[in-house]
Amino acid sequence: MNHLAEHLLNACAETIIAVDPDSLVIVMANRQAETLLGYPIQDLIGRPIADIEAGLQDVFFWEEVKNGNLDECQAVEGEYRHQSGSLIIVQKTVRLLDVNGSQLYVLSVHDTTASKQLEDETARTTSLLAATLESTVDGILVTNLTGGIRHFNHRFVELWKLSAALLSAEEEPCILDHLLLELTEPAAFREWFERLLSQAQTEGATECRLLDGRVFGVASRPQRLRERPIGRVFSFHDITSLKATETQLIAARDAAQAANRAKSEFLSHMSHELRTPLNAILGFGKVLEEELEGTQQTKAAHIGKAGQHLLDLINEVLDLASIEAGKLRLDMRPVDLVHIIRDCVALVTPLADARNIALYIKPLLNDRFVVHADARRLRQMTINLLSNAIKYNKEGGRVEITVTARGDNHWRLTVLDTGIGIADEDMVHLFESFSRIGQHSPEVEGAGIGLALTRKLAILMQGAVGMESELGVGSRFWIELPCAQASAIELAKPSAAIRHRPNTPVTLLYIEDDTLSQKLLGAVLTRKRPQYKLLAASSGAAGMALARENQPDLILLDQQLPDGIGADIFKTLRSQSETRTIPVIALSGNTEPAEIQAAMATGYAGYLTKPLQIDAALAHIDSVLVDHGII
Ligand code: ADP
Repeated sequence: MNHLAEHLLNACAETIIAVDPDSLVIVMANRQAETLLGYPIQDLIGRPIADIEAGLQDVFFWEEVKNGNLDECQAVEGEYRHQSGSLIIVQKTVRLLDVNGSQLYVLSVHDTTASKQLEDETARTTSLLAATLESTVDGILVTNLTGGIRHFNHRFVELWKLSAALLSAEEEPCILDHLLLELTEPAAFREWFERLLSQAQTEGATECRLLDGRVFGVASRPQRLRERPIGRVFSFHDITSLKATETQLIAARDAAQAANRAKSEFLSHMSHELRTPLNAILGFGKVLEEELEGTQQTKAAHIGKAGQHLLDLINEVLDLASIEAGKLRLDMRPVDLVHIIRDCVALVTPLADARNIALYIKPLLNDRFVVHADARRLRQMTINLLSNAIKYNKEGGRVEITVTARGDNHWRLTVLDTGIGIADEDMVHLFESFSRIGQHSPEVEGAGIGLALTRKLAILMQGAVGMESELGVGSRFWIELPCAQASAIELAKPSAAIRHRPNTPVTLLYIEDDTLSQKLLGAVLTRKRPQYKLLAASSGAAGMALARENQPDLILLDQQLPDGIGADIFKTLRSQSETRTIPVIALSGNTEPAEIQAAMATGYAGYLTKPLQIDAALAHIDSVLVDHGII
């Protein structure tokens, strides 16, 4: 072979092998043959072609050639044996050439192992995808960018009850029209579907209800090829039973909310009804206590104490109910804990003294521990912990109050006592409503609401409560609340000093349907403000008539009268020239600060809650009279 021919042969990308037709040995091979088969060229030359061809069809081919029946073949598959023994899948073409008068078989061969592997892998991936697609409970539909069907699984056909004819139609049907026929609101679904088709990159989800009552959740994502959208995948999930449960839950929630509202309304009504007779019990008890002496005075004091306990209980039950009804409104502000502690300690000191219990406020290093809280409620929570620490203490015991930091953001107020302690098994029930536990003596008053209320209030204020205790040794209860900015503190304004001129004659009109309450105020005024003359009316209409006729200096107006609510009667008083300027104090069983604020905003001169705390009520009446320049 000349040099040029050799160069040309080696430059060829294919493996070229020439075989002598008579001996069937290799007479020539190019460099690619060396690479493909692993033999040096000189080892290939002279080697029978059968040494490197391993496929049965190759044997048959050369048999046929030998028998003179076959000359050439085109692109047939075969197997070649590498020098190492491994097999290579190849494709070969054999041509019979005439070279200088003698014949030669020239084989051009190329390795198809890699493309075969790729083919196998593609087949495996396709089978995996098909199996995955068929095993999902969702109906899957793949469309092209215009909504034409490209692919779907059986679940899709089953969910939409589609006919095989439709899906196998040649002309690539737009599936949307067929889905719309099944829907209760086809227009909305069409809009969603078409919007997604027009925004090829967008993902979307919706729900659709079918005429047969089923509901499907639908989601769609773009199908992308190298970041470029080439179609859409829609998945349909049957959520009928989920929806039914959701509807039932919503109905149950609405019913529970309605029941809760009814409960709150009932409680608020009851609160007024309970506070009115308590007004008389507490008020007359106080009057008697002051009028009587000796054992009779002690008995009157018992009536007062029991009445006060009943009132506390009503207040706690109502608070608990309004928290549960989500109605308790908090007035959250920065509050100085030290202030609250000092106030509360002052309040419980008589209780501690009576049992010879020492109260300590541990030295507070900071002079200000400002928390974000509702001051009135925080006072209520602190008093609850302090009074428990006294109630469940031993005669001559000790109570300590400390404030410490909890992490960076909370202050913890701890009340420690050396009392009876709480057994481990009782601790879990401690913060439940109406749970009274432990071995304390039965005469210790309580209803088991205080701690439950304290915990709920702390949670509402984004805080927490906790405790530790050892039976017979004592307990430690704490409240944690979020810190607030000290600069934002609003200091309580001292109440204006009353320049009371005791002997100025004053006429009060009390509009109240409860005659006992009327008599109580009469009795109190006779004793404590004899210069105040009291007129009383039992209905709004009678009150209006008395007000016009007598022009009293001040009107006390109960907020629930047989012929109307206080707010309406107040409006009438304001609308008439004879009564317009008379200051009016509202009297109500409603103690919610927000309600009181709302009432005050309508123009009342004052607001008293029932049952009346006699001395505080008189002071309030006096201050309104002072403010209006009457006394
Ligand atoms: P009450 O004191 O009105 O019964 P609480 O909710 O305040 O209700 O307390 C619930 C129960 O927890 C009490 O009945 C008492 O058994 C127990 N308890 C509360 N504080 C203490 C304490 N400091 N030491 C021992 N037991 C306590």
